[in-house]
Formats: sequence, C-alpha cells, structure tokens
Amino acid sequence: MIEFKNVVKTYDNGTTAVADLSFTAPTGKITVLVGPSGCGKTTTLRMVNRLIEQTSGTILLGDEDNAAVDTIKMRRKIGYVIQNAGLFPHQTVLDNVCAVPYLNGTDKHAARTRAADLIELVGLDRDYGSRYPWQLSGGQQQRVGVARALAADPPFMLMDEPFSAVDPIVRKQLQAEFLRIQADLAKTIIMVTHDIDEALRLGDQIVVLKEGGVLAQIGSPAEILAS
Ligand code: ADP
Ligand code: ADP
Repeated sequence: MIEFKNVVKTYDNGTTAVADLSFTAPTGKITVLVGPSGCGKTTTLRMVNRLIEQTSGTILLGDEDNAAVDTIKMRRKIGYVIQNAGLFPHQTVLDNVCAVPYLNGTDKHAARTRAADLIELVGLDRDYGSRYPWQLSGGQQQRVGVARALAADPPFMLMDEPFSAVDPIVRKQLQAEFLRIQADLAKTIIMVTHDIDEALRLGDQIVVLKEGGVLAQIGSPAEILAS
C-alpha cells in the first residue's frame, strides 16, 4: 500500500497545494485522484516519489517511510507514467523501455528480451522496438510509456493523466488494455485524472480532492456515484 498521513505541501510562494491529506492506496489496486484543476493532484502524486518534498506529514511505501530511504533506490520501485509519455527522442522504443533496467545494471540481453515482451503486452508489434518516438502516434507513444514504467517490474506505479493526451476512442482502447494488464500484474497504483468517467472506469478506489488539496470524499466508484 501507499499511505499518506497528514501530508501538507506549501510551496515557497505560500500556496498550500495540499492541506493535511490522509488516505491509503491499497496494495494491488488502482486509486484514482480526481478533482478540479489546481486542487493538488499532481503535487500529491509527485510527493510519493519525492519529485516534490512534502512540508510535513508522512508517506509510506509499504512499511517504508519514503523520506527515510535512499531516493534512487526508492524510485526504482515506482513506475512513473506522465501525459505525452516523455520518451527520450533520440532513443529507439526498445532502448526507451530498457532505460531503467540498464540503470539497474540488468544484463543487456535479458533487458531487451523482456522489453520486447512488454512492447507486445501493451499492444504494439515487436518490430516497433526499432522505431523512434517521433515515428509513433500519440497513443502508441503512451503505450511505450506504460511499457517503460513496467520494465523494472516495480510494485508501485504513479500515473499522471496517462491517457488524456489522446483522442477519446484511443483513450478508451488504452484504458481497456491497461485494465487487462493490471488484472494480471496487480500493481499498487495512484493515478491522477481530471476525467470523472476515467476515474469511475479505472478506479478500485476514488479519492476526490477539493481546492487546497483537501480530501472531499473517498470510496469505491459505486460509493462515489451514490453520493
Ligand atoms: P492539479 O494537479 O490538481 O491541477 P497542482 O498540484 O498542479 O494541481 O497544483 C496545486 C496548486 O499548487 C495550484 O494552486 C498550483 O498553482 C500550485 N502550484 C503547483 N506547483 C507549484 C509551484 N511549483 N510553485 C507554486 N505553486 C505551485
Ligand atoms: P499539470 O497540472 O498538467 O501538471 P501545470 O501546467 O499545472 O501542469 O504545471 C506545470 C508545471 O508548472 C508543474 O511542474 C507545476 O509544479 C508548475 N506550476 C504549476 N502552477 C505553478 C505556479 N503557480 N507557480 C509555479 N509553478 C507552477
């Protein structure tokens, strides 16, 4: 699980983006953060892998305090998927997917074999491995972004609007394929979206934030819909 305990983030300019936030993202489940623009979703997500440091409060990854462990080691346990995929433009798809395994010192051949499997898992032909990101559509790039995040087999995943940069039809396809993959892999996921339909479709649990990063509501999609 990932647990937030009384987490506060006040930026240097005095903006409190997250005020006293507590919730638990259960192991093997998708927790979706929703709420209006500026309510603190991205800030909340980025505090988990310490791209942003919380002002106070505790974030646990499993039973480890994320502030007490080595940041590099901690990040290796967390797959990170962002809008527009953020692929390295001068590297092939295969090398993009292998980026973290290479850093981890994984045997090159083993890493490339696994990367080719992952490229297939996310719904691309294996021969896409030799292409460059600019030769792919936005939806295909997002698929590669998911494959890259899965490459080191991290127990945790952080996903920031992973499907919002593609058109609605491709988005539905990506969501369905993502659910199929997650049914097997059971990662502990926190996903940010501003799309309530996406939250209801993908979330095992939904955390609704209101302005200032205040917890407005938490529950299953059925519980959120009923309220
Ligand atoms: P969301 O992801 O829900 O759109 P953010 O977490 O990006 O919200 O932002 C929450 C609030 O914090 C907003 O008021 C935003 O303007 C502010 N904010 C975000 N990043 C910074 C920053 N680096 N410095 C100051 N304020 C920031
Ligand atoms: P998104 O909400 O899609 O993440 P934004 O355009 O809100 O993107 O923010 C882009 C970047 O600018 C983020 O890294 C965020 O932390 C930073 N940012 C957002 N709001 C502010 C702000 N008021 N002051 C300084 N930086 C900000």
